[in-house]
Amino acid sequence: MAKVLYENDINKEVLEGKKIAVVGYGSQGHAHSLNLRESGYDVVIGLRPGKSQQKAEEDGFKVFPVAEAVKQADVVMILLPDETQPKVYEESIKDNLQAGNALVFAHGFNIHFSQIVPPADVDVFLVAPKGPGHLVRRTYEGGAGVPALFGVYQDVTGKATDIALAYAQGIGAARAGVLETTFQEETETDLFGEQAVLCGGVTSLIKAGFETLTEAGYQPEVAYFECMHEMKLIVDLLYEGGLENMRYSISDTAQWGDFVSGPRVVDAETKGRMKDILTDIQDGKFAKGWILENQAGRPQFNAINNKENKHQIETVGKELRDLMPFVKNPIDSKQKDVK
Ligand code: NAD
Ligand code: MG
Ligand code: MG
Ligand code: MG
Ligand code: MG
Ligand code: MG
Repeated sequence: MAKVLYENDINKEVLEGKKIAVVGYGSQGHAHSLNLRESGYDVVIGLRPGKSQQKAEEDGFKVFPVAEAVKQADVVMILLPDETQPKVYEESIKDNLQAGNALVFAHGFNIHFSQIVPPADVDVFLVAPKGPGHLVRRTYEGGAGVPALFGVYQDVTGKATDIALAYAQGIGAARAGVLETTFQEETETDLFGEQAVLCGGVTSLIKAGFETLTEAGYQPEVAYFECMHEMKLIVDLLYEGGLENMRYSISDTAQWGDFVSGPRVVDAETKGRMKDILTDIQDGKFAKGWILENQAGRPQFNAINNKENKHQIETVGKELRDLMPFVKNPIDSKQKDVK
């Protein structure tokens, strides 16, 4: 079994007294910065002028242009959008790293697909929380944490692993578990998970279910509650106790339906297509397509996004959620503009 590390396995000293520059103050950036500061570390923010800058300053951070923040820091965490990182790295980061600094990522994409080639005299590692940034912050505030992977790509100081672990602990991840990986494994499994299961798989499953019900003449509100709202309630049971716990709570009728109909929805062919998706990730086809899409100004991304936002499940869902004030988490709405 893989070795999972917790608070007591980690030595904080290697990171104490070092200055950490967090570059970017979006979903992950605000969470890492606030959690690290509350864990006792010295954090500055690197950003271009804009909304994120205002937010970081409101949160009490010193904000500098990226180059300035990097110059001051011993540890530089890159929390820019993956597709923006290579350009900002070339323009503002590369020449401001000093020998022995640490260059850190929360996702391995740019190193693994050679979009960023780091200098040979810095530590390079990743600390990748396995959860959305807003939950990295919310769970930390509640005394808990989101698990994280760490992986070392380059260790020039001989301390890269210890620094990575201390960083992971600083953002609260060691409360939940920290697991060693490589840039390759993190990149490929993260892309696969978000495409096939967590984001792509789940949204397509929800929409197909909603459409099947509404096209058969059932009320959209009923279809919304059945296919979207209840998803969270079911997933909470899975999160807390796995398949058995979820099945314990549902009726035996639901459990029988799960057994006989689930495999009709996700069958061997679906799994075959999952394997195709994994192959596209492994051989770089997905990465190439996404890089080109960005170079072209995101025509497909924007067109699909506009269409998705107009789906009936979104309009009916908004109306119903507005009538359930408890669904709007106050932290969520406050943090929504952190982007
Ligand atoms: P984001 O889009 O939420 O935030 C990006 C930040 O970078 C913003 O503050 C933005 O203002 C700033 N920025 C953008 N362009 C800039 C530029 N040219 N110069 C300076 N600042 C600029 O990003 P994110 O979703 O937090 O992703 C950051 C990294 O974390 C990525 O590597 C991503 O793969 C990884 N990650 C994200 C999540 C997540 O929950 N979103 C989870 C795990 C890992
Ligand atoms: Mg995002
Ligand atoms: Mg992920
Ligand atoms: Mg990801
Ligand atoms: Mg039961
Ligand atoms: Mg039911």
